[in-house]
Amino acid sequence: MTEVGHPVELDISRAWLVDPGTGREGPGELVVRGGVLESVGWLEGTAAAGVDATGVIVAPGFIDLHAHLREPGNEAAETIASGLGAAAHGGFTTVCAMPNTEPPIDVSAAVLAAASAAEASGSPVRLRVLGAVTAGRRGESLAPLGDMAEAGVAGYSDDGAPVASAVLFRSALAYAGSLGLPLLDHAEDVSHGGGGEAADGLISTVLGLRGSPPAAEVTAVARDLAILADVVRDVPTARLHLTHLSTGAALDLVRRARAAGLPVTCDVTPHHVALSDEWLAGARRFAWDAIDDGRRRDPWRDGAIVAPPYDTSTRVNPPLRAPEDAAACLAALVDGTADAVATDHAPHAEIDKAVEFGLAANGISGIETAAGLLLAAVDAGRLPLLRAIEALTTGPARVLGRDDVPAPGFVEGRPADLVVIDRAARWAVSPETLASRGRNSPLLGLELPGRVLLSVAGGRLAYRAPD
Ligand SMILES: [Zn+2]
Repeated sequence: MTEVGHPVELDISRAWLVDPGTGREGPGELVVRGGVLESVGWLEGTAAAGVDATGVIVAPGFIDLHAHLREPGNEAAETIASGLGAAAHGGFTTVCAMPNTEPPIDVSAAVLAAASAAEASGSPVRLRVLGAVTAGRRGESLAPLGDMAEAGVAGYSDDGAPVASAVLFRSALAYAGSLGLPLLDHAEDVSHGGGGEAADGLISTVLGLRGSPPAAEVTAVARDLAILADVVRDVPTARLHLTHLSTGAALDLVRRARAAGLPVTCDVTPHHVALSDEWLAGARRFAWDAIDDGRRRDPWRDGAIVAPPYDTSTRVNPPLRAPEDAAACLAALVDGTADAVATDHAPHAEIDKAVEFGLAANGISGIETAAGLLLAAVDAGRLPLLRAIEALTTGPARVLGRDDVPAPGFVEGRPADLVVIDRAARWAVSPETLASRGRNSPLLGLELPGRVLLSVAGGRLAYRAPD
């Protein structure tokens, strides 16, 4: 039996292959020898009989643009090693780590330290480090972006917070662009939405929680896009990536900006697609079931409230939004406005969540449940499987735009980078089944479709399900 970190030998016959590199999916087989993808074959006729997308599927390894691995500074919540282990369990073979650690990753030495922690972990999952935009993430002056580029960052972000200063945001966009790297912004007008406990609306009113309105996101996105339009005139290589967009209105702005040719990309999270703010009140149904003919259903009248309210695992920033906004996130995923699904994996130690709702840390430990939530949307007939896989592979690869992350797809002669999922199996999300140190998930106690059987990164075993 191969151990984690070692080259894999693999014979997969009669599985459903999904290759977003070529846009092809269908029955097939593949052989891996010494970690190298030796052959890929597509089956036809009688050989393909009985093989469909509801059994075992094989896809390229997933790429997460947005994860919080908490090291250095909060190793009780996660470490680079535990985070990469959780990623592999979720089917991810490349992870971009956000720099809002303590201290933040805002100098090249910190970038290199994160890279060596990944190396020391023994996990073959690729770690790509994002550098902070501003020194100390304080929003006062730019961090040494050029130094960090030399140390190999994948881009820059002050995530956890926006770059509030328009002048600094403009300089950073231009500087990062001249280095050929994207700037990932957490778009939020903190003067408007800061401190919000829930999406502003019926649920926040009923629960008596401070609301954060959609406009706090929409106005921040509008500012970012206006500045981008200025900057690209002088720096055509500038690239803006808006992470965890959660409102229909913000996604509409991105849709229009792209149609006008602006170099902007964006992602949505699995929880903003599949969950809605009624989860704060104790509902536990998917967002697409909370809406009927475009109109919100009443979770109390429907009997959809099955859990206690104020579960702090539902507190996240941006907040879980109204079902209409979740539907807009899903629509953006389907039509390609959202290039990628990013997990915003935000593990927390129990102590930071076992408090009253308004004091709880924001975030969901989500890298292991991302694929399951998307597959739930696929099962509900809301999302084509190929599109879900693209948003986890070729979409984020395009955002990174770098050749140190191999282009996702099945290419013979290259180290295998893939995930094998049993679509027919469901698994129970529980503290025991999560590899992350952060067990802060509103999905605990629920079942998700699609059990990851195997993750292979760069030809080496990253995860294998227990027998
Ligand atoms: Zn954020």
